[in-house]
Formats: sequence, C-alpha cells, structure tokens
Amino acid sequence: MSGAANQLTMPRTTERHEPARQLPLLVLGPGADPNSERGVSCPGELPALSDPALVRRAEVARARLGDRAFVLGHHYQRDEVIRFADVTGDSFKLAKDAAAKPDAEFVVFCGVHFMAESADILTSDAQRVILPDLAAGCSMADMASYSQVEECWETLADLGIAGTVVPVTYMNSSADIKAFTGRHGGTVCTSSNARQALNWALEHGSKVLFLPDQHLGRNTAVLELGLSLDDCVVWNPRRPYGGNDPEQLRRATIILWKGHCSVHGRFSAENVAEVRRRVPGVNVLVHPECPHEVVLGADQIGSTEKIIATIERAPAGSAWAIGTELNLVQRLASNNPDKTIVFLDKTVCFCSTMNRIDLPHLVWAMESLADGKVVNQITVDPQTAAEAKAALDQMLALP
Ligand code: SF4
Repeated sequence: MSGAANQLTMPRTTERHEPARQLPLLVLGPGADPNSERGVSCPGELPALSDPALVRRAEVARARLGDRAFVLGHHYQRDEVIRFADVTGDSFKLAKDAAAKPDAEFVVFCGVHFMAESADILTSDAQRVILPDLAAGCSMADMASYSQVEECWETLADLGIAGTVVPVTYMNSSADIKAFTGRHGGTVCTSSNARQALNWALEHGSKVLFLPDQHLGRNTAVLELGLSLDDCVVWNPRRPYGGNDPEQLRRATIILWKGHCSVHGRFSAENVAEVRRRVPGVNVLVHPECPHEVVLGADQIGSTEKIIATIERAPAGSAWAIGTELNLVQRLASNNPDKTIVFLDKTVCFCSTMNRIDLPHLVWAMESLADGKVVNQITVDPQTAAEAKAALDQMLALP
C-alpha cells in the first residue's frame, strides 16, 4: 500500500476515543468540504464540471486502466457516473462483485464511504479500493459512532443485560461498528435479509441491539417477526439510558438505535395519501428504511434490488409510486416507458452524499490511477477488518 496518496485508514477499533460526531450533509459540487468529517480537498486538479471534454477524458482514462480497474456503481449514483460502471448493484452485491474480481488492482467504488470500507474488507490485500470523493459519507452510518455504541453497551452491561443482547448492524454502518458487532457475536444484515438476521439473533439471545437504522429494525421486527411496537424501544445516544428507564430496557426485545436515512426518512404517510389521490390505481412501493407509517400505508415493501425486480416484472400500463432515492426512480422511469412511474414525494430527494461522486471526481480518480498515482484509497486496519469480517461472514451463514 506504500506510495498511496491521500490514504484514509481507520484507526484500530480498540484504540478509538473519538468525540460524538455527525457528518453534515454536504453541498453538491466539486470543491473541498473543510467542515465535513472526511472533508479533504482532492489533491491535484479537479476537472471543471463545464469541461466539454469530460466524457471523452473519462473514456480515455477508463481505456488506459483497462482490466487493472473495476468500476462499481451503486444504484443511487448519477447517470453520468453509472455509464462508466462495470457493474451496478446495492452495497453488498457490489462488495461481493469486487471480491470476485481479484485480478483488478483498483476497485473504483462509486458509492459512499461505508461501502468502500466493506469492499476493502472483502477484497484481497493486493487490491486497492478507491472512493472518488472522500466527502461521500452516509448520514445514517454517521448517526452511530463507535464511542456512542460502546457507551450504550457499557450501560447495558451495568444493567446486567448485555449478556442477553445480540447486536445486529445494518450494512449501512462504518467498519468499526461492524467490528463491534463481530466482537460481540452479532451479525451484519441487509434490507433483504433483516428478517433472517433478527430471527437468528433472537435464537442466540433474548434481545437485539439493532444499529443504526431504527426504521428498518422496527419495520422488520413488527411486520416480519410479528413483534409489537411495545416490544421495541429507541436508544437515543444523547440521553441517559438512551432516553429509557432501566425497566423499559429490561423488558424490551428490540433496542433500536436512533438513526435513520436522510433520504428515506423524509417520506410521510401524507405522501402516500397524496399520490393515491393524484395517480388512480397506483401501487405504492417503498424501501424498508422508510418510517413505519409509510410502510404501513404502502402496497409493497422492498430492498433496492427488489424494487428494481418488481418494476421490471410489472405489467405494461401499471402505475407505481416509488419511495426510494430519486436517481434510481428516474432511471427506472426511463428504462420502463411502458409503465407510469412517479416519485413518492413531490419534492426532490436525492442522496446528497451519494451525489458527491460526479464525473469530475471520477475522471480525476481514474486519470490519477492511470498516471500511477493512487488517490483516495480506503483502507480498514487489519484488526477492525477481521472483526468486521466475522460479522459479515455470520450474515453469509444466515439460514
Ligand atoms: S441513501 Fe440514505 S442510507 Fe443510503 S447513503 Fe444516502 S443517507 Fe446513507
């Protein structure tokens, strides 16, 4: 890994003593983000967005890299970036795709930071994972910092219940939270296998600490496991006992971390009612990161991959209102012109951090790699990676 410029390495989990932090949502654009957690200027010259040769430069840089690079594009990425992706998918599929390409020296991850970390954990040491803009974080992942989660666990231990709790963390979490989960015998989950993960965890303990998305945890516990809302409590890391009294924590089956996705958390029950008035016969299809009342009002719930498959299989002439990231909804609408596809909310709702990866950053990253300069490499230290991988492996072993 020597010679890598602008390399970001996670500290050893056991050595972390970080202050509580929140990643502010970032203003779109190619500039530096001095106020952001990972905000670093891109070293070197970032091409101007207005450069008429930008697409050509991307094509040339991609051709120069050839098989040395494998470009991954998350479904929520912009079209201008997706067109250069060798594969598209959700975060876990992309990490597995990268691991299945051991000959690719560079994995250029067009997604957000936690995804690049997972790719680094699952790929070989010889492969280098590149995030074209280090400011592409995830507000949900940053809602659960390592020190906050450790503090929560210590409180549960003081109450004498930590031994009964199995942590389950959503894929959308930092490597150190995945490592915490692995160290305490838990598992990672995705939006596709959250039900299996919760069932497995409740076979190995009597309680679950679900990180960091309260909505996915609640929707899965109530709608798929048949638990009641009263079986769930929310842990607010900013309040003593997470905002609960000790007895509530002892009684609870699911302790939901108070985190949410800034994109899916915006949808409301009123959006569902409004679109039903606006589009007669519409089918409402939402992601399980949406609030519980939105999911209750929808016709179908689905992970990103399931949303795509559902729309592709839908009959011509059917109408769909989709509650997920807008880049994906727009792409589904243009790829399925025989169906009516509308966004669930009337206001624009892109993921601002996903949108940090734009064509100038991709061109800059690929040209730098082609010139022999490794930029924006994401590495996870070996101990954190090993503990996080234990939780990822447990997910792969879920029944
Ligand atoms: S869509 Fe939500 S969960 Fe996904 S990267 Fe953006 S903020 Fe994070």
